[in-house]
Amino acid sequence: ITFESMGISSEITKALDSLRYYHPTSVQQEIIPLALNKEDILTESQTGSGKTAAFGIPLCEQVVWEENKPQALILVPTRELAMQIKEDIMNIGRFKRFKVTAVYGKSSFKTQKSELKQKSHIVVGTPGRILEHLQEGTLNVDEVKSLILDEADEMLNMGFIQQVEDIIDYLPKERQTMLFSATMPSEIERLAFFYMKKDHKTIK
Ligand code: AMP
Repeated sequence: ITFESMGISSEITKALDSLRYYHPTSVQQEIIPLALNKEDILTESQTGSGKTAAFGIPLCEQVVWEENKPQALILVPTRELAMQIKEDIMNIGRFKRFKVTAVYGKSSFKTQKSELKQKSHIVVGTPGRILEHLQEGTLNVDEVKSLILDEADEMLNMGFIQQVEDIIDYLPKERQTMLFSATMPSEIERLAFFYMKKDHKTIK
């Protein structure tokens, strides 16, 4: 199997080639077609499985460059992960010249605010700071089509779930939601039940 045979455009496969991603990992083989089909997806996945590209590739395929407001929001437990995902997605989307903004705590709110004011196709960040930007009106989510919750069990462990729920309340109801978690405690199952479509797909 190749990315090309999965219907990934040449702008993206060219970028994947330069990253030496020649074949999709098994998680990518499962997730990419579902994600391109706009399904909600619940994935019990470990780091190292290639899950970042599993959601990053379909996002880069679907994001429209001309749109000025963010079209995807990715919530993560740590700033390190936010920075890593920003870099991965910029690499995957480099020929489409996407702008990815990372926002996280303990870092200048003002700088992030001015970055968010400019064109920002994809926003990745930690729940506390994302929520602050929503409350301050410095992050507009009217055009968000996809929500990704990455390492959801870690966000739970760090006490971020209430903030995650408050953030979701700001998002359009009509959207795609993808949830990734290494473990599935009942709190995460509850999140999936409340915030994902009833016919969401589950991948082990
Ligand atoms: P992740 O699970 O997203 O943290 O990815 C684990 C590692 O696998 C990262 O270093 C990625 O750069 C790499 N990777 C992801 N997808 C592929 C692929 N299709 N082929 C080769 N390496 C990959």
